[in-house]
Amino acid sequence: MRIDLKNISMKFDDVTAVDNLNVTINEGELVSLLGPSGCGKSTTLFMLAGLYRPTSGEMLFGDKLVNKVEPENREIGMVFQNYALYPHMTVLKNIMFPLKMAKIPKKEAEERAKKMAELVHIDHLIDRKPGQLSGGQQQRVAIARALVKKPKLLLLDEPLSNLDARLRLEMREEIRRIQQEVGITTIFVTHDQEEAMSISDKVLLMKDGKYQQFSPPQDMYDHPGNIFVGQFMGSPPINMIPVSVDMETERIALSGTKETLGMPSRHKAAALNCGDMVLGIRPEDFFVATENQDGITARVALVERIGRDTLLSAAIGDKQFRALVQPDFQGKVNDFVKLGIRNDHFHLFDSETEKNILELKR
Ligand code: ATP
Repeated sequence: MRIDLKNISMKFDDVTAVDNLNVTINEGELVSLLGPSGCGKSTTLFMLAGLYRPTSGEMLFGDKLVNKVEPENREIGMVFQNYALYPHMTVLKNIMFPLKMAKIPKKEAEERAKKMAELVHIDHLIDRKPGQLSGGQQQRVAIARALVKKPKLLLLDEPLSNLDARLRLEMREEIRRIQQEVGITTIFVTHDQEEAMSISDKVLLMKDGKYQQFSPPQDMYDHPGNIFVGQFMGSPPINMIPVSVDMETERIALSGTKETLGMPSRHKAAALNCGDMVLGIRPEDFFVATENQDGITARVALVERIGRDTLLSAAIGDKQFRALVQPDFQGKVNDFVKLGIRNDHFHLFDSETEKNILELKR
């Protein structure tokens, strides 16, 4: 089922939790709603579930306007953070429960529930009670229960947040597998950018109720539309350095320093029209340059060896930034190092609008 949100807003008295959201989610896609606490993720999910009615705008499931459709008539399955299983019922009874409510004959309900248990790999546990299961297994039961009525939309509200790190990894792969096997349109709320990157076809990133970007995760990482998107995606985080264009040389000058960098040709036209900008460089896009290569010279402040990477903190005057460099990097604290930037990995933002200068014309 395709989902269309058209100018959707949700106000609670004086708080605008969701502000004029326009998004189309295609049939069969897994979309993550991502953003910091309070950005409106849960409110958006609850509107999709029918638990909140949008203050304005139109919500369409397929071609059908659903603003006023009650939750039970929306053909959705929902999985909550705390699983919300019935503790006194067996796993099988938990999964069967939505079918019992829909008055499906017991034999058919049992067969369908068993099929679901197989799909989520808990068919050997169907006679246990939820208290006798691990967190990951309980989550599987919750997913089976959400899918047993063959909904057209699956809503997941931070489903992995109660699991430890290893289980989170396992379960996110499982959610992806199950979603792809069933082919169901799925919306997944998370505040964890790595989780969103790994699991989604597309990510909707929000801040203060407002749309920031909606695109495949790698695209969002490679082409952040504004400073917030650049900063939210990636760990260690992107470096943001105030710069301007030196009109004589047409090079990028790091503000408050004597350091300059050649400008990638694709940025030239847009950058020449901008005054102050912010240069975004991801740590992995720096490399240790030779004398003859273009780069900026910085003082080494800290060298951290983290597994296969070496994380270098470097400073130019009072400006600090981080670079991931080759593991055989030999520099020590207070040495000077010349850092080059892989040519097409510049992100330049207008410092006033905070928008990517390549996107300004759009
Ligand atoms: P979190 O990651 O912390 O769960 P979120 O992104 O899901 O946050 P929402 O819960 O959607 O954010 O909240 C968005 C904004 O709306 C917040 O400022 C919140 O305080 C406000 N809000 C949410 N629900 C209500 C409500 N029932 N009444 C009043 N304000 C609300």
